[in-house]
Amino acid sequence: MRLKTIAANWKMNNDEKETTDLLSELLIHIPSGAQKIILAPSFVHLNTALQATYNSAIEVAAQNMHHKVSGAYTGEVSIKMLKSIGVQNVILGHSERRTLFNETDDVIFEKVKLALEFGIKVIFCFGESLEERESNNHFKTIEKQLSKLLDLSTNDWEKIYLAYEPVWAIGTGKTASPEQAQEMHAYIRKILADKYGEELSEDVSILYGGSVKPNNAKELFSQPDVDGGLIGGASLVVGDFLDIVNAV
Ligand code: PEP
Repeated sequence: MRLKTIAANWKMNNDEKETTDLLSELLIHIPSGAQKIILAPSFVHLNTALQATYNSAIEVAAQNMHHKVSGAYTGEVSIKMLKSIGVQNVILGHSERRTLFNETDDVIFEKVKLALEFGIKVIFCFGESLEERESNNHFKTIEKQLSKLLDLSTNDWEKIYLAYEPVWAIGTGKTASPEQAQEMHAYIRKILADKYGEELSEDVSILYGGSVKPNNAKELFSQPDVDGGLIGGASLVVGDFLDIVNAV
């Protein structure tokens, strides 16, 4: 059975004190048990988050990594570094990485393979633009973004979360309707079922991301194929994030 998962993407926000304060509040208030919680602070604050969540069920994710293990890549962070401090997850393919930093499906797939090689779980983000949805090409886009992952082995899929994040809904306040989210999640699950069989497809968690807020979380998460969410803006506000966690 799939456990509902809520992942917080803090992006390039919060200094050390703000991060520590946010972590302490969350650790006091997040109920233990029912859901899986993953927090993704900046690289700078990964160690702080790992120490704060040590001995709890909460896991930590990096927001990105380089596609090589080491080398002359000034300013970059490698999977080996993340692994060595105990990071359990990495977000890859986020739309901001794709659009603002020109990450291609090929480079993202290199990162996915490397993370899996190092035993780090991947939160793989993908989703269509507004133009693609309006021209009715959203299913085609999703298929293309997912296609390389279909070369992975069944074992690899034990370490992958999919995060469907329609680009037009990220940070815009526009959310996919529960019906739109369910339709796409079911479509994604069908792609997995066709390639790997029903059993594997039923085991993969597919998260929804894009302006999830306390007032829409419950309806989104109650869709049969929506296994939780990747939360950006609302994850920076303690009360909002807790409401979202409790909406599961
Ligand atoms: C995100 O960045 O992954 C995201 C879903 O952001 P927001 O919740 O702010 O739309």
